[in-house]
Amino acid sequence: MDSFRSKENLNRFESIFGKTKQPPRLFQAPARINIIGEHVDYLGGTVLPAAIDFAVQVYLRPNDTSSYNLYSVTYNETVELRKPLLPNPKSSWTDYIAGVIVEVEKKGHIVPGFDLLVDGNIPQGSGLSSSAAFEVVTGYAIKETFGLPISREEIALIGQRAENHFVGTKCGIMDQFIIAVGRKDDCISLNTDTLQYSYHHFDLGDSEFYLINSNVKHSLKDSAYNQRRSECESALAKIQTKFPNFTHLYDVNLSDVQIGECHLTNEERKRTKHVTSERERTKIVIEGLESGNFKDVGSALFETHWSLSKEFEVSCPETDFIVDSLQSLGVTGARMIGGGFGGCVLVLDMKDHFSKIDAVLKKSYQQKFNLEIDFYKFHISDGVKEISI
Ligand code: ADP
Ligand code: MG
Repeated sequence: MDSFRSKENLNRFESIFGKTKQPPRLFQAPARINIIGEHVDYLGGTVLPAAIDFAVQVYLRPNDTSSYNLYSVTYNETVELRKPLLPNPKSSWTDYIAGVIVEVEKKGHIVPGFDLLVDGNIPQGSGLSSSAAFEVVTGYAIKETFGLPISREEIALIGQRAENHFVGTKCGIMDQFIIAVGRKDDCISLNTDTLQYSYHHFDLGDSEFYLINSNVKHSLKDSAYNQRRSECESALAKIQTKFPNFTHLYDVNLSDVQIGECHLTNEERKRTKHVTSERERTKIVIEGLESGNFKDVGSALFETHWSLSKEFEVSCPETDFIVDSLQSLGVTGARMIGGGFGGCVLVLDMKDHFSKIDAVLKKSYQQKFNLEIDFYKFHISDGVKEISI
């Protein structure tokens, strides 16, 4: 979306904040998919995300004052922030910007006043991480505009801290990281413990990835996310009393008998099963993408979905129905992505199969849930960058 409403938004910017000799600079950050490695990024696991061409765009210009003047196209709202920066219950979209400023300053930099316009086309709350895109584009725009010596990896960490500390969501590092370092046509494998990562180029040939938005957002999402995190922490603590060498739940490789000796609750055992089996599936997917064995990749995606549904229990009837229907319709692979309880399903299939899927699924989903689904085709794209206007 390089030219996404760019003239219109430049005009908007100048009519709201005034026209000066210095035009604003335009920055954009992508959305992301995660091919595999779900609910393991806060457990030291390996994830396989890629940036995709939906985006949050930010126009930013220094204003030589101590205020941050912010305008959101989506919310059609102007907000002026001054220090001390505190969470804003009335316009929570400004928290993503304030949180980033606070975290940049905690690193010892000073962020002078600026005017900022934000717009975007990432569907919010659908598992594509519009919030991480917003944090990363804000951090990158500040770094570039004021010439701060901050690396892309640090921008990702600043974004994560802003979301953890200021917005109050206990997210892992994956989303901000891929949005900061993504590269066109590549995914990365990221070790979320060490933050070591490598790029993997893949050519899908006659196959394609696409997304299906279930258009449901269950309110369970945030509370269940925090609950899963604490179940995983308590499972690890119990395992460590018997097997002290494991530092991450993701690395646990014990037999069922050994797990039985750890006195896990039924929930803790199921969460452990998802997390450790995801490690094996991730290896299969990396190998399959590189060798072109998409059948194995697809099977692993289905297995991940049912593991998220039955063992980790973060799916919902709507996304289960979509994946079950896709499996019956013979697609190569599919799974829910993101936090869960709705949002998007990632599909891998032959390109020429799509026309047989969309109409059938639209109709059956509408009949069952009285809801529309949306299909999104996308390209694997670059991470955060400046766009010339
Ligand atoms: P997601 O799964 O998309 O990350 P979140 O609930 O974490 O969902 O983040 C969505 C929030 O991010 C929105 O409620 C809004 O505050 C902010 N946001 C995302 N995109 C934009 C945008 N283009 N303009 C303003 N705020 C945005
Ligand atoms: Mg988010």
